[in-house]
Amino acid sequence: MTTETLTNLVSEMAAGSLRVVDLTVPLSAATPVIGLPEEFSPSPAFKLEQISHYDDRGPAWYWNSFSCGEHTGTHFDAPGHWITGQDYADGYTDTIPPGKLVAAANVIDVSTESAENPDFLLTSDRIREWEAVHGRIAAGTWVLMRTDWSKRTAEDFLNYAEDGPHTPGPSVECMEFLAHDRDILGFGVETVGTDAGQAFTFDPAFPAHQLMHSNNKFGLASLTNLDQLPPTGAVIITPPLKIVTGSGSPLRVLALTSV
Ligand code: MN
Repeated sequence: MTTETLTNLVSEMAAGSLRVVDLTVPLSAATPVIGLPEEFSPSPAFKLEQISHYDDRGPAWYWNSFSCGEHTGTHFDAPGHWITGQDYADGYTDTIPPGKLVAAANVIDVSTESAENPDFLLTSDRIREWEAVHGRIAAGTWVLMRTDWSKRTAEDFLNYAEDGPHTPGPSVECMEFLAHDRDILGFGVETVGTDAGQAFTFDPAFPAHQLMHSNNKFGLASLTNLDQLPPTGAVIITPPLKIVTGSGSPLRVLALTSV
């Protein structure tokens, strides 16, 4: 039965009735990174340096070295990223059980609300409304917040003002609801981080980080193409680089979905 499932999977992919959707943004020096207040260490942008390019440095081969903050571009937030999740032995990029890196996704479309209000906050009421149509969110699945934010220019994507960034995200009670009442695997967004731009003013501050990671749950940031996924039924593959004691890493996020 298990073998048959896998055989069907590859034959349906070959036939085109199952599609692979890339939820990843391109990674380059131009990839927007989160800005922090001056008193904190900034996250360096992605940097690519040639080692050789079929030249004196390596006549038959091309390769680069790269550097960046672990939370750059489309990236994974491990529980150990936050102080509230630091004590989970299985909460770092090298220790997360691999079985948690392939899971079902629930996509909640709040793109209209987010276009109208850049400070839009996802609430448990909005999720219950979604569940009334699409069914209850199962434990161990992802909740992905579709805002269409990935369609914005780099400047509008970060959307800074004098009082900080203005980007949509989850409310405190929404994160409590998803962590405790739904026991989700993690929370994914199209914005530069899993929390709303103004989440530094919330109580507690940064609830997606504070509450997801204190419950050994994950984050995904800077996703794209969420508009190509159905509300339910997609499976996403999310393995971060196996950095020893890493807090997260850029990754390629792939979704399997029926057409
Ligand atoms: Mn992050």
